[in-house]
Amino acid sequence: MTATTPGLVCAHHHLYSALARGMPPPPEVATDFQGILEQIWWRLDTALDLEMIRWSAMLGALEALENGTTGIVDHHESPNAIEGSLEVIAQACAEVGVRVLTGYGITDRHGADGARRGLAENKHFIESGGPGMVAVHATFTCSDESLEAAAGLAEDLGVGVHIHVCEGIGDIDAPQRLEGLTRDNWLLSHCVHLPTEHTLKGTILHNPMSNLNNAVGYADPARFGNPVALGTDGIGGNVLESFRLAYVMQRSVDVTCGPDTAWSWLENGWSIIPEARNDEVVWSYDPMDPWHIAFTPGIMPRKVTIDDEVVFTDGKPTRVDADEVRAKAAEQAARLHAKL
Ligand SMILES: [Zn+2]
Repeated sequence: MTATTPGLVCAHHHLYSALARGMPPPPEVATDFQGILEQIWWRLDTALDLEMIRWSAMLGALEALENGTTGIVDHHESPNAIEGSLEVIAQACAEVGVRVLTGYGITDRHGADGARRGLAENKHFIESGGPGMVAVHATFTCSDESLEAAAGLAEDLGVGVHIHVCEGIGDIDAPQRLEGLTRDNWLLSHCVHLPTEHTLKGTILHNPMSNLNNAVGYADPARFGNPVALGTDGIGGNVLESFRLAYVMQRSVDVTCGPDTAWSWLENGWSIIPEARNDEVVWSYDPMDPWHIAFTPGIMPRKVTIDDEVVFTDGKPTRVDADEVRAKAAEQAARLHAKL
């Protein structure tokens, strides 16, 4: 028995984090979210070069495809390999055959020059026709000037801004800092500590597994008036898993809810990458109904068709050799881990 759906969209991913698995433990055990950023992610992203980024993106794109995800909304940072990084990611996704919408997360963590170069990378990539949005790390690592520059660039280019908002309590003043800047085409990731009543515009991206893993709290996205979409925040490309977790997390605070709300969040990914709606995934399970999917782990695609091309069938991608991608990614992971 099989059933089909359109291609799924992962509305918040970090393809650069695919090589993080197995990295050596940090010098200090992180005791809070800021510590997790400093001890893990900000040490990892500064060590990335373009070859690592390429194979990290290849692996992330492959794993998305293997889970029926045909569209990835990527948020990228590599402070020592900024120029050309978005093109490398777009190329890798194109090679695997998956759609991507990427952006360079600008930040003043490495000074105003780092922010300026990040902004320039977004501008260059989008102006040259790349599938992009302007990305910003978060308000707590950006000056007001950088936030305004990013909002202005996005407005000029006719795209939205993809930014982390109120993921941890250290970003609690984000709503004030972003006042008047946000638009409906912005993507606001996490919003765990965003007040229910707020003035920010845009789609809220819910990443339940990441939020649990970082112990930042439950976003309870059903409380917002904004549209909500589902992501993984870099923990793979399986958004059916995000859906299942989003449902039971909602259930943990509202035992009367059904899975339809969380399923509607998954479907909202198609408002960000509309082309994925025309893709087709033939699944190993029938029916692909929210009540069934919520309680059926291990549903896998049998066949994935993107732009009328079969890019996955018989458990394998058709454009790349999955074993080779994994071997190359492992080589680059070893290089990366040796630098940490
Ligand atoms: Zn993120």
